[in-house]
Amino acid sequence: MKLIRFGNPGEEKPGLLLADGRRIDASGFGSDYDERFFGGDGLERLAAWATANAESAPVVGDDVRLGAPIARPSKIVCVGLNYSDHAKESGMPIPAEPILFFKATSSMGGPNDPVVIPRKSEKTDWEVELAFVIGKKASYVSEEDAMSHVAGYALHNDYSEREWQLERGGQWVKGKSCDTFAPLGPFLATSDEIADPQALPLWLTLNGKKIQDSSTAQMIFGVKTLVSYISQFMTLLPGDVISTGTPPGVGLGFKPPVFLKAGDVVELGIEGLGVQRQVAVGA
Ligand code: ZN
Repeated sequence: MKLIRFGNPGEEKPGLLLADGRRIDASGFGSDYDERFFGGDGLERLAAWATANAESAPVVGDDVRLGAPIARPSKIVCVGLNYSDHAKESGMPIPAEPILFFKATSSMGGPNDPVVIPRKSEKTDWEVELAFVIGKKASYVSEEDAMSHVAGYALHNDYSEREWQLERGGQWVKGKSCDTFAPLGPFLATSDEIADPQALPLWLTLNGKKIQDSSTAQMIFGVKTLVSYISQFMTLLPGDVISTGTPPGVGLGFKPPVFLKAGDVVELGIEGLGVQRQVAVGA
């Protein structure tokens, strides 16, 4: 299944993207896609609901805004420098174990919402990433058992303010958490739709020019390893988002660096997970 949420920011309703491309309103199902949904048997019940109701459910028009495909999670955990060539372009050593950081959950937004360049920002940057969503509470999970804790996958743009991330002291979180800095979607594809999360082409264009172009095969630490690794340090709750890092081609890596300005258009995609489009606007 492909889960969507649609409507005005903060008022999104659950829906589904069907195989024939129709977007349907799943409000009749009776639950948002949140911790309780993923932690219970929500996906199974939703599949049963869809079998019975997809044909008669209201269609969501193409002009209706998409929100993030899941309700606001308890946490967004990100992995830094998880593509060896991106570590190199950032001038940092290849990590011996995963680098973890958080994004504020309030940064999450719809896949095609404008990205707001924050006040006083001069170094807003992009990062196409594969994100996955936890389906079953994960604490001290083994690698062998890890994939049973994954509900599905989504496209994520891990926007970053590089000065605030790297030059202002303390944790990366300062440059990762601004409003609109975590567009997610257009949909959450359930795990059964993605045969191998480590074999997905991903790309990003800036004003039509392709500047990120890689594959999740290039990740240093894959999904299975990350679930197990992160669960040694914290309990991952159903609905939590893990973002797996970005390949080369971020603005920071250009010589001289390139950062977003108002009017820039960022488009990105991952095979099987759809595309996003953001127009940059000033705060
Ligand atoms: Zn990132």
